[in-house]
Amino acid sequence: MRATTLISLLSFVYPLGLIAQATYPTKFSAQLAELPVVRDALAYVDDNFESQVSEWIRITRIPAPSGHEGERAAYIRAQMEQLGLEVTIDSIGNVIGRRRGVGGGETLVFAAHMDTVHPLGTDLTVNREAGRLHAPGVYDNSASVANMLAAARAIQSAGMVTRGDVIFIGTVREEVGLDGMSHWLDHNPNVPDMLVARDGGLGPISYGALGIYWSSMEFAAEGSHTLSSRGKPHPARAASRCILGIYDIPLPSRNAPVGAVYNVGMLRGGNVVNAIPQEVSFTVDLRTVDPVLLAGLDSAIVATCETAAQEEGVEFHREWISQSEAGGTPDQLADRREHPLVQTAVDVLEYLGYDFGRRPSAVATGSTDANTAVIRGIPAISTGRSRGGNQHTVTEWADIETARIGTKQIILLTAALAEVVGGT
Ligand SMILES: [Zn+2]
Repeated sequence: MRATTLISLLSFVYPLGLIAQATYPTKFSAQLAELPVVRDALAYVDDNFESQVSEWIRITRIPAPSGHEGERAAYIRAQMEQLGLEVTIDSIGNVIGRRRGVGGGETLVFAAHMDTVHPLGTDLTVNREAGRLHAPGVYDNSASVANMLAAARAIQSAGMVTRGDVIFIGTVREEVGLDGMSHWLDHNPNVPDMLVARDGGLGPISYGALGIYWSSMEFAAEGSHTLSSRGKPHPARAASRCILGIYDIPLPSRNAPVGAVYNVGMLRGGNVVNAIPQEVSFTVDLRTVDPVLLAGLDSAIVATCETAAQEEGVEFHREWISQSEAGGTPDQLADRREHPLVQTAVDVLEYLGYDFGRRPSAVATGSTDANTAVIRGIPAISTGRSRGGNQHTVTEWADIETARIGTKQIILLTAALAEVVGGT
């Protein structure tokens, strides 16, 4: 059992030698992983890894852009039913498979989003080459869906008995605002004691929530032909003034323990060369884990636009694109870091051979389905699925071998946190 880690977020600021070492509670131990029933479940993953990869390819090939997850959900439902889980599909489309414990333990939820960012009609051919799978969505998040099903199969096949219930959820609409997970938590507020989102690459355990505000800043005026445009209210001038003003709003320094960042990403407006446009808009992507900073920066950005609009005599309004709240600063989340969920996940990953190197082992941020639990006060983390890259592009790829670690991680988290008491 080991539970020592560095307060690693600070390692970007201070030399490692100066950092106080902290010990956090864990529920994992090597002895736990050596229990016969746990070893059986882990061995199941190795013995069936090739068919796991085939299923991973099969899942990747089922189109599932956000809002169109039905076919993928039906596949997952059928697999869960075959395993003997208690399976339901809720009104938004999440697939939920519950595995009962014997009682007296905590309920552990694993969530893997089923949706991808790739529109219907995208070529989902999967190419296997040099230990990697290449296809849109193969990494984000088909790998997690396949890992979750494989882990559930291994746990069932080994007959692992736990105190707590384990709930496996394939969620919908993660990519467009974590809608499926939010919906499930709204309708099951007291069900999960802990939540583990399966998303992202293998690496530091995320136990916080990055707040993300996406806005469209919209400026409007009457417009006018160029010949009669002198002195007329000009939405493009107001938008330009506002963009320049936004970039004067101070951000915490690059090395600050709690950062923030904004970006103007899309600009739109005007239909013709020879007229003042009637409408001009641009988008702002604002991010920080600090709720106070998030609100403060957001107000400053909106105020900058209002002032620019006033000075140019045009109308302004902010249109929300999406709003995902911030979980808190590392200080505010100190109690979350103390929750055994986090260190257990760190220890499990190290036991499985993952080397954090100089990187932190846990970070007080995150932008996955786990955010929805973090902001509701439920202990939650996100853990990776494998290694991979180019996610959200058509050149997405995933490393095959590391999905084995991602899968075994689910088994060991189940044994530790839902408390294995034996095998059947
Ligand atoms: Zn994802």
